[in-house]
Amino acid sequence: MPVCPVCFEDAESVEYATMHNHSWKNHACDGHGLCWRCLAQHVEIQLLEGRYNVRCPGAAGCSYRLVSLDVGRALDVLEREDGKEEVVGTLRLRYEQLRSDCHQHRLRELLKKSQGANEAWLLTRVQPCPRCLTLVRKETGCSHVFCRCGSDFCFPCGAPPGGCICSQMRRPGGSKVVFAAWLRSADESRVEWLWDYRGLVDDNDDDGDEEVEQELPQGQVPGTPRSFLSTWLEARGFRCGPRRSP
Ligand SMILES: [Zn+2]
Ligand SMILES: [Zn+2]
Ligand SMILES: [Zn+2]
Ligand SMILES: [Zn+2]
Repeated sequence: MPVCPVCFEDAESVEYATMHNHSWKNHACDGHGLCWRCLAQHVEIQLLEGRYNVRCPGAAGCSYRLVSLDVGRALDVLEREDGKEEVVGTLRLRYEQLRSDCHQHRLRELLKKSQGANEAWLLTRVQPCPRCLTLVRKETGCSHVFCRCGSDFCFPCGAPPGGCICSQMRRPGGSKVVFAAWLRSADESRVEWLWDYRGLVDDNDDDGDEEVEQELPQGQVPGTPRSFLSTWLEARGFRCGPRRSP
């Protein structure tokens, strides 16, 4: 057994998860010989201090950030310690919560600024993960993408497996990517504030002319691309906009 450089005990060394799919690959870190218990304690402190995006504590300057699989394994180790079961349960929830809060906040900021050229361009190239809301970029030609949180989804509509609404969104000469289409229309979407969001971005790959559609003004003629989500999706039985009480 190697000796951990932090606690100097002989213990099993940390091996970070290797994630490699056609969407992304995580930066490699060999774990620096750190033991699982030390990593678990570090993760616990970080989560208690409100940080979900935990950096590798093995060496000064290591830029590796733990993926959810690493955090999960560290918490498993912590859970095996006496009397830690309840704490770990709370920490797991906290991790999901912190991650989701952070990404929701980022998503809001991005949409608020979507008039800006950079943000507008970004909205035509990314899709929020339906589970953790991280903005995922399409790196390859495949429309099936993977997120760092471990989920996969359909890139053009942002739907989790089985929930694709691309066929419902097809329109003549239409674009392929509709930002957060699934999150804005599916009953399973838990991002309620997005249901209110009427701005829409098209990926006009064909003419290279990126158009950002802003808030739907009052009295806007239905059927224009601006009201695409509200009219096309509603006509097809998808709810769009805030949930109304019956
Ligand atoms: Zn250690
Ligand atoms: Zn490292
Ligand atoms: Zn995700
Ligand atoms: Zn789809």
